[in-house]
Amino acid sequence: MKVDLHNHTVLCNHASGTVNEYVEAAIACGTEFFGFSDHAPMHYDPKYRMTFEQMELYEFWVREAQQRYEDQITVLLGYEIDFLPGYMEESVLKRPCDYLIGSVHFIDDWGFDNPEFIGRYEGVDIDDVYRRYFGLVETMAKSGKFDIVGHLDLLKVFKYLPTQDIRMLAKEALNAIKNANMTVEVNVSGYRKPIIEAYPSPLLLQEIIEREIPITFGSDAHNPEQVGLFTQEVETLARSVGYDKCAVYRGRDRDMIKF
Ligand SMILES: [Zn+2]
Ligand SMILES: [Zn+2]
Repeated sequence: MKVDLHNHTVLCNHASGTVNEYVEAAIACGTEFFGFSDHAPMHYDPKYRMTFEQMELYEFWVREAQQRYEDQITVLLGYEIDFLPGYMEESVLKRPCDYLIGSVHFIDDWGFDNPEFIGRYEGVDIDDVYRRYFGLVETMAKSGKFDIVGHLDLLKVFKYLPTQDIRMLAKEALNAIKNANMTVEVNVSGYRKPIIEAYPSPLLLQEIIEREIPITFGSDAHNPEQVGLFTQEVETLARSVGYDKCAVYRGRDRDMIKF
């Protein structure tokens, strides 16, 4: 991936490898812009994220790598922030960095992408769950606090798919993303999950380009071996609907570059 903005560190407690190992893996596969966007702290589900106190250490690690590798690659500093109403922290949202990814991983108290809680899909009205999920994505976009939408259709992770047309279920969320001038990431982690496809699906990506919403790319790597996997697949997918440029951010400002 020429641009790869979604990658984690050990600070989230469910990733491995050093910051330098991630960056060296990115250099090895020809990445030009490599961003860390580790799970930001939150007073909910603290087990899967850095602590508030660790933000300084995280930023120090990324800045150090920025300098160490500056002749070979541009390293960027971001955060992946959970959008969970009632738990948004100004101290995180105001953090000086290159970009913020907003991600919905929870519907109320349900961490729906966590295999531990897969049982909760049984007996639900799946279309209703999709409606609530995209409602949260819409509210997140309308908050105006984020630059990039993380894994737009993550709810499909375990292959529980809606019976209604996904384009209708996602419509208001997509309109809100457009109005908020956000970027949608094409995230490869779905290839490592039961759904075996990128987020978003080709059908949604078509809706996204029709609205002229910019895209970017993310490995969502939780170890250095995952950096740059499935690059061919996602770049081909993006080109197939008509994209030839993707977004990078510096200091919360967007630039578009050819990929
Ligand atoms: Zn993670
Ligand atoms: Zn995520």
